Amino acid sequence: MEKCAVFAGGLHPTPAPNQISGPSRTTSVKLLPTPFAERTHFSPFSPKFPKLSSHSATYSSSNINGNPIRMASPQTSSVTSELDDIDWDNLGFGFMSTDYMYVMKCSQGEEFSKGELQRFGNIELSPSAGILNYGQGLFEGLKAYRKHDGNILLFRPEENASRLRMGAERMCMPSPTVEQFVEAVKFTVLANERWIPPPGKGSLYIRPLLMGSGAVLGLAPAPEYTFLIYVSPVGNYFKEGLAPINLIVETEMHRATPGGTGGVKTIGNYAAVLKAQSAAKAKGYSDVLYLDSVHKKYLEEVSSCNVFIVKGNVISTPSIKGTILPGITRKSIIDVALSQGFQVEEREVTVDELLNADEVFCTGTAVVVSPVGSITYLGKRVTYGEDGIGRVSQQLYSALTSLQMGLTEDKMGWIMELK
Ligand SMILES: *Cc1c(COP(=O)(O)O)cnc(C)c1O
Repeated sequence: MEKCAVFAGGLHPTPAPNQISGPSRTTSVKLLPTPFAERTHFSPFSPKFPKLSSHSATYSSSNINGNPIRMASPQTSSVTSELDDIDWDNLGFGFMSTDYMYVMKCSQGEEFSKGELQRFGNIELSPSAGILNYGQGLFEGLKAYRKHDGNILLFRPEENASRLRMGAERMCMPSPTVEQFVEAVKFTVLANERWIPPPGKGSLYIRPLLMGSGAVLGLAPAPEYTFLIYVSPVGNYFKEGLAPINLIVETEMHRATPGGTGGVKTIGNYAAVLKAQSAAKAKGYSDVLYLDSVHKKYLEEVSSCNVFIVKGNVISTPSIKGTILPGITRKSIIDVALSQGFQVEEREVTVDELLNADEVFCTGTAVVVSPVGSITYLGKRVTYGEDGIGRVSQQLYSALTSLQMGLTEDKMGWIMELK
């Protein structure tokens, strides 16, 4: 569903230079800047300036010929960092390639220690790589916002870091420490700073990947691992106010099973939901709401979003028990709702309760809060509210997005400022 997309697309092919849809990069590139000048701040990483790859044609080569990143300051002041030809008002949610990606590798049994920024581009993998053959891979998703005062804000990045660590444990992969993850995210965002939309126009979507990149043939954990971060500017999901989505409850297919990997952000969970999602979209629905695979009675979640129901002053959401992805937006909405005086329950929620709720909404990084206008279950359609946009959904959406964009005081201590 559009509204809850998590950009689960994984590694998109890099467009050939002449197909790049973003801003033209024939103007002088002015990257490098402050963050690199202060590189000691980024230890333990010692990023190297990327080698130019086959992409060189896309960039002005004058100031990037393999110079170390720290060269920055003197030269960079003369280059422009503005992307004048990008239409910030019409940013969608598609992938757009940017300047740099972060790459860090380690062997099985070792720990990640040193990463570097590279020019964004295709990566090389053995056809026998663990991720390609056996799906040994995880992804994360978070956003950076540009604030009016010029600062750049991240929202709870250490939560993504620890979720990746939990997933890595389940998938038999080494993972960066929380500190390494957060530093790498900061580093990547600052290196791609010019791609962060102006305040109010959207955000920089950050996509960390952890994958078994070494070659294996017999089923086993890969011998080598790659942690990679790329970013892409995205618009706000709801440009003209919240728009409700229409969900269909899936009664045949399941997203996750007890003991499986539904609770971690492993890449394999996403290809498995495409069929039900495509069928739902073909019938005009926005996405699928999954039920538990044992009783087919309790709500789990949408393909890539968590679900909440509102009844009076009580907000309920299915409890985390291995088959539901522990969303950071979910967790944050629970705390915001509690702080606003709602009663919040994490428990088993039945389809009956869903159909009798006052309001239903979904949460995820991409949408933040997405109101549900209708639910269809076994051919019966239930609609919510007048226009499908409940008061509570609206209120929680405003509260959380204002916090994320730095418009309200961060009493929760959730915002990390990068400057
Ligand atoms: C990523 C994801 C979510 C939402 O998690 P956030 O941390 O809030 O973005 C919910 N469900 C699934 C299946 C997901 O992959």
